[in-house]
Amino acid sequence: MKILVVGAGISGLSFLHAALAKGLSPTLIERAPRWSKEGAGIQVYKTLV
Ligand SMILES: Cc1cc2nc3c(=O)[nH]c(=O)nc-3n(C[C@H](O)[C@H](O)[C@H](O)COP(=O)(O)OP(=O)(O)OC[C@H]3O[C@@H](n4cnc5c(N)ncnc54)[C@H](O)[C@@H]3O)c2cc1C
Repeated sequence: MKILVVGAGISGLSFLHAALAKGLSPTLIERAPRWSKEGAGIQVYKTLV
C-alpha cells in the first residue's frame, strides 16, 4: 500500500509516526523550505478532549 502524507505539520507528523509504528512506509512531502516558529505551545481545549 502506498501512502503519501502531504505536509509536515503536527497532523502530518502524527500520522507519519502512527503509520511507521504500524510497519507502513509512508512518504512525506512538505512544501515549506524551512521550519517556521509560530505560536507558544500546544493548546488542548476541554471540549475537544
Ligand atoms: C500564527 C499562529 C499561531 C498559532 N499558535 C498556536 C499556539 O500557540 N498553540 C496551538 O496549539 N496552536 C496554535 N496555532 C494553531 C496551530 O498552528 C494549528 O492548529 C496546527 O499547526 C495545525 O496543524 P496541521 O498539521 O493540521 O496544519 P499545519 O501546521 O498548517 O501543517 C500543514 C503543513 O502542510 C504543508 N503543506 C500544505 N499544503 C501542502 C502541499 N500542497 N504540499 C506540501 N506541503 C503542504 C504546509 O507547509 C504545512 O507545513 C497557531 C496558528 C497560527 C497561524
